[in-house]
Amino acid sequence: MARPKTTPPPEPKPAPCPVCTGTGEISRTVEVGRKRRTVGKQTGFCLNCLGSGETPTD
Ligand SMILES: [Zn+2]
Repeated sequence: MARPKTTPPPEPKPAPCPVCTGTGEISRTVEVGRKRRTVGKQTGFCLNCLGSGETPTD
């Protein structure tokens, strides 16, 4: 049974990480003291995708 020649489907793109929205970095608030006063924001490594920006499949 011959199949019609078609272009193979494109590889599915990995879904962007929902935590960092695909950037691989997250900005988090830096808090100090018992009152947890906010002193600023800092960019951190996304621990969900480990910086890859893609949703881990495992
Ligand atoms: Zn991420």
